[in-house]
Amino acid sequence: MRKNICMLFCVSAACILSTGCNDIANDETVEVFVEYQLQTTTATTTSSTTPATTTTTTTTTTTTTTTTTTTTTTTTEDLCRPFIDMDAKIDPDKPMVCLTFDDGPSERTRAILDCLEEYDSRATFFVVGRNINEYSGEIVKRAVDIGCEIGSHTYNHVDLSNVSKEIIEKEIHDTDEKIFEQIGRYPYWFRPPYGAFDNESRMLIDKPQAFWSIDTLDWSTRNTYSTVSIILNNVEDGDIILMHDLYDATVAAALEVIPQLIDMDYQLVTMSEMAYYRDFVPESGMLVINMHPDGVKYYPAPAISTVSISAEATNTTYTETTTVYENKTEN
Ligand SMILES: [Zn+2]
Repeated sequence: MRKNICMLFCVSAACILSTGCNDIANDETVEVFVEYQLQTTTATTTSSTTPATTTTTTTTTTTTTTTTTTTTTTTTEDLCRPFIDMDAKIDPDKPMVCLTFDDGPSERTRAILDCLEEYDSRATFFVVGRNINEYSGEIVKRAVDIGCEIGSHTYNHVDLSNVSKEIIEKEIHDTDEKIFEQIGRYPYWFRPPYGAFDNESRMLIDKPQAFWSIDTLDWSTRNTYSTVSIILNNVEDGDIILMHDLYDATVAAALEVIPQLIDMDYQLVTMSEMAYYRDFVPESGMLVINMHPDGVKYYPAPAISTVSISAEATNTTYTETTTVYENKTEN
């Protein structure tokens, strides 16, 4: 009897292990729920002896074991879905903007999350994989809990236009896994550090890429007034606003602009929500500049485009080359 149960669990354990090994790598099963239902088992041995003859009667009740296995198949595609909160009260006909914060998570991210939650708003955080640890991982979880989006910004904040194919793949993979460890899903959007990219990196990264239409230059000025002014003087429906949740001046600016944008009737949404409500389906390798209601502005995937720029580090280059961007309406 004991042997039977032992064998049952050994077989089941092997089942779990073999399933687990195949999960993400093969795009197949990643969640397995196994239920055991062991029905009552009885085994009775009765012996009776008389002086003349010896009779031994053995009664064994057959052990009945029912094993129910329920397998939920989840593909990598399911785990890499857009971050859209369908319970959020978003009016597609009202203006919306994406606040995006790069290079975190950091301790300063917490205050931004508090403010977003207070105003029932959301942002997208392009996190650096190496910044996620046992302490900051909780910040990433909380961001998702309040409806924010987590995007990838590489593991080591590398300039993708200047490293090998192997390094690019490792940077993306390691960041994906680090984020997955915290929130159980992969980032949908990617943003290249320094705004630097080339065709090779865009073809290698299996995600749509987020650029921006308003650069606050907060990383350079470290000035709250400047950051707030750049946003409020330039903001339009469909803008993607670039900030960095590393600096006190940026946190102070975020705490000012969030209520002010709400007062201006803007809805603060994630990158994925903006695309969804603009009926825009981003593709891998595509680089999205803005999602204005009259037409999303983006670089098409590299198979079509041969354009390559570097913008975060040299903002003037970005300004001068904006005219070469594709401008198409996707409705
Ligand atoms: Zn960055």
